[in-house]
Amino acid sequence: MHDSVLCNVTRCKRNIAQHPACTICGAPEEDTLHMIRDCCVARRVWNRLGTSKHMRNFFQGNLQTGLMRNLYNNTQEKAEIWKTYFSLTCWWIWRWRNCQVLGRGQDIPYNVGAFLKNGLRGANYIAWKPQTHGWYIRNTYGTPKGSPGPSGGGGIIRDTNGIFVSAFTTNFGMGMTFKAEMKAVIQGLRMAKELISKLEVQSDNQAVVQGLQ
Ligand SMILES: [Zn+2]
Repeated sequence: MHDSVLCNVTRCKRNIAQHPACTICGAPEEDTLHMIRDCCVARRVWNRLGTSKHMRNFFQGNLQTGLMRNLYNNTQEKAEIWKTYFSLTCWWIWRWRNCQVLGRGQDIPYNVGAFLKNGLRGANYIAWKPQTHGWYIRNTYGTPKGSPGPSGGGGIIRDTNGIFVSAFTTNFGMGMTFKAEMKAVIQGLRMAKELISKLEVQSDNQAVVQGLQ
């Protein structure tokens, strides 16, 4: 959404590439939309996925419009499933083209739909849901690089409508995952205490949730 994927156009702007052209098909500009929609690799994937029934005008307009139509549309049947497939497809296109560019040969499956479905088997669907009126939601995350290793974390507070209220990122020093997660929770509570009174705390770490109960 922020168009910050490291394609050649972005690399050129950051002076870490010499030209913005697509390494695979030779198109003059390899931007995000080219990578996930217009390049021959992307076209092959979308064609094999065969999603014309669900695809919301993705092949017209700019990147923002295409993403919004397919990720934030709740009107069609099985909208949540399509959003997941759409996001996964974009990610795999990114991976497959990187493999091709780096010469690590990972073939695109003939049946892309079955491949994605297989990867989702047993997956748990989670999503951010708005809180009741007057309440705020705080999500935090903490992790080390290594176990133990230098750790850090961050958190964000949003209001009933998902609107940003406040956020933090910080360095926690050496530690393990649980310690980093708990430090992020505590840091988030300190931040929330100064701002609001009704808060729901959310975490994706089961041990942390159990530790707080
Ligand atoms: Zn291309």
